[in-house]
Parts: sequence; structure tokens; C-alpha cells
Amino acid sequence: MNRPELLGRLRSRSSPWDFLIIGGGASGIGCAVDAASRGYEVALIEQHDFGKGTSSRSTKLAHGGVRYLEQGNISLVMEALKERGIMRENAPHLVSDLAFVVPNYAWWESPFYGVGLRLYDLLAGKYGFGPSRNLSKEETLERLPTLKVEDLRGGVVYYDGQFDDARLLVHLAMTAVEQGATVVNYCAAVSLLKNAAGMIAGAVARDSESGDEFEIPARAVINATGCFSDAVRRLADPGARPMVSPSQGVHLVFDASFLRGEAAIMVPHTSDGRVMFAIPWHGHTLVGTTDTAIDGVSLEPVPFDQEIEFILDTAGQYLAKPPVRSDILSAWAGIRPLVKSGSGASTASLSRDHSIHIDPSGLLTVAGGKWTTYRHMAEDCVAQAAVLAGLEERDCVTRRLRIHGYHHHAAKFGHLEVYGADAIAIQEMIRNHPERGRRLHEALPYVEGEVIWAARWEMARTVEDVLSRRTRALLLNARAAIAMAPRVAELLAAELGYTVAWQRSQVDAFADLASAYLPR
Ligand SMILES: Cc1cc2nc3c(=O)[nH]c(=O)nc-3n(C[C@H](O)[C@H](O)[C@H](O)COP(=O)(O)OP(=O)(O)OC[C@H]3O[C@@H](n4cnc5c(N)ncnc54)[C@H](O)[C@@H]3O)c2cc1C
Repeated sequence: MNRPELLGRLRSRSSPWDFLIIGGGASGIGCAVDAASRGYEVALIEQHDFGKGTSSRSTKLAHGGVRYLEQGNISLVMEALKERGIMRENAPHLVSDLAFVVPNYAWWESPFYGVGLRLYDLLAGKYGFGPSRNLSKEETLERLPTLKVEDLRGGVVYYDGQFDDARLLVHLAMTAVEQGATVVNYCAAVSLLKNAAGMIAGAVARDSESGDEFEIPARAVINATGCFSDAVRRLADPGARPMVSPSQGVHLVFDASFLRGEAAIMVPHTSDGRVMFAIPWHGHTLVGTTDTAIDGVSLEPVPFDQEIEFILDTAGQYLAKPPVRSDILSAWAGIRPLVKSGSGASTASLSRDHSIHIDPSGLLTVAGGKWTTYRHMAEDCVAQAAVLAGLEERDCVTRRLRIHGYHHHAAKFGHLEVYGADAIAIQEMIRNHPERGRRLHEALPYVEGEVIWAARWEMARTVEDVLSRRTRALLLNARAAIAMAPRVAELLAAELGYTVAWQRSQVDAFADLASAYLPR
């Protein structure tokens, strides 16, 4: 993953690529892995960093979606449960099982959720992560020692998967490159090319680092820009009717004392009928999420005050120590690109299935779905794009394609576990240069060598890339991340050949951005 080299490949080519993919989130990178591994020639451009959009801001669950079961969407749940299993098989270093406990405070909850979750087990079939079962009050408290005890009757435990979204995305991007794709971050599609018949034939891209614009010809263009899908569709047809309804979800992060033990809490019905989770993640407690319809979309959505209050209030109903505003280490928002189906009054009732839409100009848009189903979405999308482009049909091979870093016993690498097999090379680098083992902040496990690794091998270009997505410092503890920024800027500047002025501007820009993760 060497940006200058990959950018050079993109700029120097004049013959059309088989596919140009716009958008470097789970959907776009998933398509790049799928298409390249089928043997097609693939280019992908991302306007910011890989995962800057929704794909680094999810709840980090590889799940079937218990909530969709309740809505009767059995096929969506079955598909997602199967994909959950495939995800764990192909990226065992990043996807792990997690026990979820539904605490029961009313007499009817135990039989009601017990039966529902047994059905969830059945639907998973051979892809099951473990059988659900009812728990006594004592067993519930053994698993969740920080749960509110008053009126607790027991619980139901079931199993789902957990992963690190931005890390999986980087490893998918590396997999795409290994399969022959050319993927470039900080390169936006600013307009679309059309042939004499008015059909889409590529895009004009702008490299944000140099400001240069250049053409990328392609037989098919896949628009995988999530909540920005309609903006890209309007580049082809200014009158295109919107297909995406954006909905914002917020997460709050607290220290580990709020959720001791190994299990997560799942609240199937909050006061306004939504699902909420409290999850142990990288030694912290992650609580969320909300679902609020919004009008505009942005790369840095900001949590609304009422969303923060709602999460604090709901968490306080279940945790023995109710969290308060000053306990928040980081608060962040993500935007769901829900696909409109008919009139859909509330965002919670919009389709969570993925949708592939072909505009009259031949622009193919893939949107919706979930992180968990990215592989299946890509399989569908690439098959349709190949037909559209008149390419020879080739079988999808991602069902058994190992993702970069594949390793079965990565837990032995400590906090470097998420790098999977790459942890061996990082440890080796630290052995040879012990100063690279220095921690960047006492509150978080990240070391200087990870910054160097991110710059050399993972296309990190800015302080934010390192602190938000190559490591998860910003999402875990925004104050610590701000404190880490100057040293990260110094290390990056040395690796990428930047000046002291660049370092200063990076630190200022990061402090500005990170302050929005600290609600007042
Ligand atoms: C709060 C929340 C929690 C969620 N939790 C889960 C979960 O636990 N499990 C699960 O399975 N799913 C979850 N999801 C769903 C999942 O995160 C999304 O479905 C998925 O990340 C969408 O990926 P995407 O690639 O379609 O969009 P994005 O990740 O947003 O990627 C689109 C990319 O396109 C880029 N782009 C836009 N315009 C251009 C342009 N002109 N040129 C180049 N690039 C461009 C953007 O910069 C962006 O990076 C959650 C979603 C939300 C909002």
C-alpha cells in the first residue's frame, strides 16, 4: 500500500479499467476485493481516508441483527448470520465471539426473549457462534457484575460477533491491492465522464495532496459512496431522485469500570422502542446507538445533545453506576445510508437490506446493507456490474478468500492482536529499534512503532488517519488522542518527508476535529 506508486498507476493509465469504484468504505473496498480477486482490472478512489465515512463509526458488531428478527425480516437475518460466520472464517484475527446478555426486569421478558433468541440460533445453523440460554439472576450478575440489581429477575445470553471496523477495512484494502487492485485515498471523483452515447465511461478525479485533476476511464463505474450516493448520482444526472435517507447514530465511550466482565448488554427495547448495546471494546465501554433522521450529510457528523442525553439516561437505567456527562471519554456519530422504499415515515422502518440501483446513464450505485454483509453486497454488485460492462463473467471467490493479516492465535500479540500476522513484523521492528516500543500515552496501549507502520504500509497520510482509524485512540479517549498528536505528527513527518510547518498545521487541525468528540 504505497500511495505514490498506486497514484502513479492510476494517473499513467489511458486504457479503460474494467471497474472504477468511487468510495473507500466497506461497500467500495468490498467490491474492490471481489472484482480484483475475480481477475478484473480495478481502480478505487476515496475522497478522504479509507473508512472516513460510516465504516469506521459502526457499533463494531458482526451480527444477524436481533432487531430485524422482531420485525419479521427472516431472510435478512439469515443472510447476515451466514456472512457473520464467513467474516470470522476469513478474518479470525479481527472477528471474535461475544456473549450478549439481555437483562430481564419483568416476568415476561425471560420466556419472550428466550424463544426469540433460540430462533436466532436456529437461523444461524452451522454458522452459529454458540447456543443461547436463560440465566438465573445470579448467573446474570456473574456475567455482568456492574448491572443494576434492583428488580433484576435474570437474563438471556446469546452470541454474536465483534470486530474492529476501521482495522478490517485497512486489511481489506491491503487484500484488494494484493489481488491486483489500485486503491488510492485522498482522491475524489469530481465529475463523471460520458461517451458519445451519453453513457458513463469513467470519472475525473482530484488528488487532494497535489490538487491535480486527471481522468480515469472505465467500462463500469460503481458508486459506493454511502450517504453521499445521491451527490455522486447527481454528477451523472442533476435531476436524479434521491434514493438514500440518512439517519444518524451516536456512540459514547466510557472507561472499563462501567462494564466489568466479558459480556455485553443488549437492551431490546429502549423507552422509544430502539435497541441499545453496552459493549466491552479495546478495554473500554462502548454504549450506543441512536437512530435519528437527518437532513444533511457530512464527513464529520456531530452528536446531537438529545442523543447524548438519551444514551446516558438509558445506560443509567441498567448500570449500577449510572454514567454522567463528565465520564464520557469520546462521543462520535455515524450516518446510516438507509435506502428509501416507498414512503417510509421513520428511519427505523426504512430498508436495512442493500440495494443496487442502475441509473439510465449506466452508473451503478450500491448502498444500504450492513458492515456484516459487505462481502455479499460486493458479490452481487460486481456480478451485475460485469454484465453491465459487457465483461466476461467470472466466479466470485471471496467466500474463502483470507483477509490480510489472517491469523488464528493473534491474541498472543497483546494489543497488536488486531494486526494479525503483521504483528510479527511490528514486534520485530520494535526489537530492532526499542525506542519504537515507547507508548504514545499512558491511558492507551499504542506505541510509536505503530505510527511508522501505518505510514509505511497502511497509507496513513495524516495525524487523524493514525489516531482515528489505524489506531482507535480518538474513538476511545479524545483527550488522550489530542495529547498524542504532536508526537504522531513528528513521526509521520519524518516518514513522509514533511516540514515542521506541516506538523504544526496537522496538530492544530486534529485538535480542532477532536474537540467535537468531547461534549461539554
Ligand atoms: C451508528 C451506526 C452503527 C452501525 N453499526 C453496525 C454494526 O454494528 N454492524 C454492522 O454490520 N453494520 C453497522 N452499521 C452499518 C455499517 O456501518 C454501514 O452499512 C457501512 O459502514 C456502510 O459502508 P459504505 O461503504 O456504504 O459507506 P461509507 O463507509 O460511508 O463509505 C463511503 C465512502 O465514500 C466516500 N466518498 C463520498 N463521495 C466521494 C467522492 N465523490 N469521491 C470519492 N469518495 C467519495 C466517503 O468519503 C466515504 O468514505 C452501522 C451504521 C451506523 C451509522
